[in-house]
Amino acid sequence: MRVFLGLCALVLAVPAGATDAARAPVVVVDPGHDLRGNPATEPIGPGSSKQKIKDGGGTHGVVSGLTEAELNSRVALRLRALLEQAGVRVVMTRKKTAQTSMGNIARARIANQARANLFLRIHADGSTDRTVRGTHTLYPAFRRGWTDDIYATSRRAARIVQSETRSALGFPDRGLQERSDFTGFNWSDVPVILVEMGFMTNPAEDRLLATEAYQRRAAIGLCRGTLRFLRRAGDCR
Ligand SMILES: [Zn+2]
Repeated sequence: MRVFLGLCALVLAVPAGATDAARAPVVVVDPGHDLRGNPATEPIGPGSSKQKIKDGGGTHGVVSGLTEAELNSRVALRLRALLEQAGVRVVMTRKKTAQTSMGNIARARIANQARANLFLRIHADGSTDRTVRGTHTLYPAFRRGWTDDIYATSRRAARIVQSETRSALGFPDRGLQERSDFTGFNWSDVPVILVEMGFMTNPAEDRLLATEAYQRRAAIGLCRGTLRFLRRAGDCR
């Protein structure tokens, strides 16, 4: 008993800085869109006079009729459970699909306030061409004063998460893309990526993404990529 108390005292005596350094990694999981889009505008980056719509509302499944917001949400909630099992602290930008989208500055602020090790944005894509398909991952283009401090780490995260998500889903690899026009990237002070899991306008990918089995595959791929990026052990099952 004496020894036990002694250990407790030691633990309590660890200075605040040391516990901070040893804290569990934080991932902000951001399911794209919400029940309704948001036509209001916001500046695309800090101090910018260029305005962009807060949220166009996302796409929907051409066969399943599922909204992108709902698909993103289902995958995100599965991902949260997997990451928490691996000891990662997860902060969600939203937990259900029930309101007007908050917009992209608000999403980035949640990630910044959480001091996230990764701000992981989950989306599915749409195209006027139904044959377009595959998985791709976007990350911020380099811009001094906006993304210079997160550029390299975001690109590394994009490469790893794209690889794991693509192989978990088995969809074609559309690779990586840098974007300078994403409000949620330009306002982020933490490493950020946006994964487009597949195309809901492609009948084959839509049919698959609407199933629980593929939502689970997506979550497993995103989890594996995230843990590899964080250099953290875990099997994501
Ligand atoms: Zn989207």
